[in-house]
Amino acid sequence: MTIQKNKAVTIRYTLTDEAGGIIESSEGQEPMTYLHGSGNVIPGLEASLEGKSAGESVKVTLPPEDAYGEWDKAQVLDIPKGQFSGVDEVKAGMEFSVHSSGGEQIVVVSKVEGETVTMDANHPLAGKTLNFDVTVVDVRDATNDEIDHGHAHGAGGAH
Ligand code: ZN
Repeated sequence: MTIQKNKAVTIRYTLTDEAGGIIESSEGQEPMTYLHGSGNVIPGLEASLEGKSAGESVKVTLPPEDAYGEWDKAQVLDIPKGQFSGVDEVKAGMEFSVHSSGGEQIVVVSKVEGETVTMDANHPLAGKTLNFDVTVVDVRDATNDEIDHGHAHGAGGAH
């Protein structure tokens, strides 16, 4: 069985940056199962897995536009510290969840200077070229529930 739309695909993967540093890996954890063709994984990775079958490995290098997008200066905002009422001390590295037109979004404090807090709403991996080393563990037909939900269900069953 090969990977195509509406297959539930189980993979082991290691994600590294351009310098070879590990960003994320399924090593030592359960492999990941996703629903192919539903945008559950980034577009470039989904495209490179199309047509593969269990036991095959894929190594792919994805430029930002095929991964998490370019880093966008427009996503960086300066906000007066006074707007953070209820937060004892605003520090670089803090994450806040905000409601925007695009839904729930995580923004990170990139720096605090005087009364100005600089927030960055770019995805942490935006602007990065990513290397994926993926092994296909299993390919099966997705269930009707999974297709309805738009995601794969794990060994734990439906939700
Ligand atoms: Zn579900």
